[in-house]
This record gives sequence, structure tokens and C-alpha cells, in this order.
Amino acid sequence: MNSDLEKLIELEKVDREITRLTEEVAALPKRVAAIEEQLADHKTAVESAKTAIKANEASRRKLEGEIQGYQQKIIKYREQSSSVKTNDEYRALMHEVEFSEQHISACEDKILELMITLEAEEKALKTAEAALKVETAEVEKEKANARLRTTEDEKLLAELSEKRQQLRPAVSDTSLAHYDRVMRQRKSAVAEARSQKCMACFVMVRPQTWEEIRTNEHIITCSSCGRIFYYDPTHEPPLEASPVKKKSKAPPAASQPEAEPETAPAP
Ligand SMILES: [Zn+2]
Repeated sequence: MNSDLEKLIELEKVDREITRLTEEVAALPKRVAAIEEQLADHKTAVESAKTAIKANEASRRKLEGEIQGYQQKIIKYREQSSSVKTNDEYRALMHEVEFSEQHISACEDKILELMITLEAEEKALKTAEAALKVETAEVEKEKANARLRTTEDEKLLAELSEKRQQLRPAVSDTSLAHYDRVMRQRKSAVAEARSQKCMACFVMVRPQTWEEIRTNEHIITCSSCGRIFYYDPTHEPPLEASPVKKKSKAPPAASQPEAEPETAPAP
């Protein structure tokens, strides 16, 4: 195989792998950020569950305070009732007592409702905390994976860069300039030619060019996409209609007359 062609095939593999790895390394921080965003949702769920519980407790304390207030009022009304002069005054005080008792009862109902809600809220908090724990472990694992992958990618990139530095000076300037130009424009610079076609842009090549390509001894470029051709004989389908001579078997050798048994001379 032509030495430039051989090296350019290798160089293209190296360059494409460098591109892939560079893109992967660049994409990893974004992936980590996306994973951490998921974690933020779980943190928010835990925070809002805690806030709901706090609000519930505050409401309960407020109601308990109100109950105490009404209980003190009732004590005061009962004390006053012993010193009233008229029935009307007495009834008015008893009315106040009844009113306070109704309030106390309403507050107690609300407290009971809050306690039922609190159970659900505490359950929600536990669920959210458990989910956050699972997700945190998952995120840490993913982050460790991402870090490991980055390290591996960077190591590979260093190796590939070194290989690239070795390959490039070994290619002639003209071939390398053509390779670089096509690579810049098309992200790939070599193409297999198969069945008389460019396998990158699928344009046919002329029969004479095809014959030259098949030798792999020249730098031949696609007239359409500019990629440098190589030929892989293992990819060529067997030509069914090819007039390949069947190996004519040698006609069965005419059976040699077997040596006649020597007849012993009659005694
Ligand atoms: Zn082409």
C-alpha cells in the first residue's frame, strides 16, 4: 500500500477519535449539572415538607393559645356571675361563657384536623428524605463515574495526540494539505471505494480510476467529495457473473492397463 495512504487512513482514525473524546469530555460537566439539578428537586421537596410541618405546629400553638385565652375568660365570667345584681346581667355572662365554650370546641376540632394533616406531612417528609438519600448516592456515583471517564478520556487523548504527532510528519506535504482541507470541511477525509463507488458520497468512479484505486498504490481523491480513496478487497462482493474460469479438473487419467500378471510358463 502507498505509504501516505496507509498513514492517512491511520491519521483519520486518530483524528476522529480525538474529536469524539474531546466532545465527550466537554459534555461531561453538563451531564453532571443535569444530574445535580435532579438533586435540587429532591432537596426542594424535603424543604417544603419541613416548612409544612413547621406551619402546622405554629397553627396548633396559636389555637392552643386561643383556647387558653377563652378558658381564662370563662373563669373570669364565672367569678363575675357571683356578684351580678340582675338576671339580665347573669344571662349576658352565661351567654359569654357559652360563646367561649363554642370557640374552644371549634379550636379543638381544628387542632384534631391539624394533627391528622401532620401525620401525612411527616410521612411525606420521610418519603422525601429517603428519596433524597437514594438520589444523593446515585448522583455521587454518577459524578465519580464522570470524573473517572474524564480522566480516562484525557489519558487517551494524550496518547492519540502523541500518535498524531508521529503520523503527520511521515506523510508528504501535498497529501497532508489535501487531507487537512477535506477534514476541515467534511469531518472525515478518507473514504472506502467499494463496487466502483465512493462509500462516503456514493458517487461512481470511472472504470480506469477504479482500477487504480484497487491497487491502493496511489493517492486518488473522490471527484465529488474530495475524500482520499482506499480499497478493501475483503469488502468486495464476489462477482457472480465474472467470467472466472472454473478450475478445469484434469480429465481423469485413462486407466493405465494394469500390469498383466505374469503367467508362469507352463511347466
Ligand atoms: Zn465521495
